[in-house]
Amino acid sequence: MGHAKISLQNGINIEYGGATYSLDPRGAVRSDYTFISHAHMDHVQNPGPGTRVLASKETRMLAKARGFELGRTTESAEGVKLLDSGHILGARAICIADELFYTGDAAGRDRAFMGRCRTKKARVLVTESTFGKSNYVFPPIEQVAKQVNSTIGMLFDKGKPVVLMGYALGKSQILSHLFSCWSPLFLHEQVARMNDIYIECGISLKAGNKVGTDLSGLPRGPWVMVSPMMSSRGAVAKRLRKDFGAAFIAFSGWAADPGYAYSLGADYAFAVSDHCDYKELMALVREVSPETVYTTHGFTQEFAADLRDQGFDAKPLAGYQTFLSEY
Ligand SMILES: [Zn+2]
Repeated sequence: MGHAKISLQNGINIEYGGATYSLDPRGAVRSDYTFISHAHMDHVQNPGPGTRVLASKETRMLAKARGFELGRTTESAEGVKLLDSGHILGARAICIADELFYTGDAAGRDRAFMGRCRTKKARVLVTESTFGKSNYVFPPIEQVAKQVNSTIGMLFDKGKPVVLMGYALGKSQILSHLFSCWSPLFLHEQVARMNDIYIECGISLKAGNKVGTDLSGLPRGPWVMVSPMMSSRGAVAKRLRKDFGAAFIAFSGWAADPGYAYSLGADYAFAVSDHCDYKELMALVREVSPETVYTTHGFTQEFAADLRDQGFDAKPLAGYQTFLSEY
């Protein structure tokens, strides 16, 4: 069948075995197949006409809740395999024959009800490299959970409420699960909306009390709220701090950077991520055991250079977006 041809136009486009595939397109691309790895905003598009959409049912549901209509989706096609990438509910990696493996966004470890990225051997690997720099190694999740629980306990003893902040889709559901033992539990409305879809898909999450941005119905005294990331300069955060005396704990892979909590105006920050850390990225590449690796997102140059040091033929997908976002 020859080798896959990769081109970059509005995303990653693959030509292989007489079919065309566009992977996480950012605009209109004509292709036989459109693969949508997961429902984070930087990966979702309304697909063009006449293409078959490869995505999970959960991705279709989550995308719909965020205003995207994927139409009819399928997880199987001739020679194509979708594998759970563990990143958020419904997130998938794609394998096209034994030729190409594309990770989408991938997790490197078990967290609450989520697992790590499944892999398969392939000749060409296109891997995300969000945290592809050696200082991004995250502590075990059990250790973080323990530290967070003792921090919340200490704040509760002082009568202080606690806001747990993470991305509304993905991270917040992990937080809702990990810290559901605290009561009363409040959910920011954006988080609650995503939690409801997780519950509909069979994930067991405790129903919390929903809170809107007007904060009506929120009592004084200690409670825990799961909320999207907010800067301390925002109006809601200011009110939570001033009127309720709340403390803020942020959860992000970027918390491995010194000064992250400070830059956000949070009281504490913990490195919990839905992406692979540096060591997990390395392990993923070894598992796929590719001839050629392309890196995308985050530290593309740095990670490709480290892979070359390890003997891999590796390069960044030039011209492809390299924002330091963690979605
Ligand atoms: Zn993502």
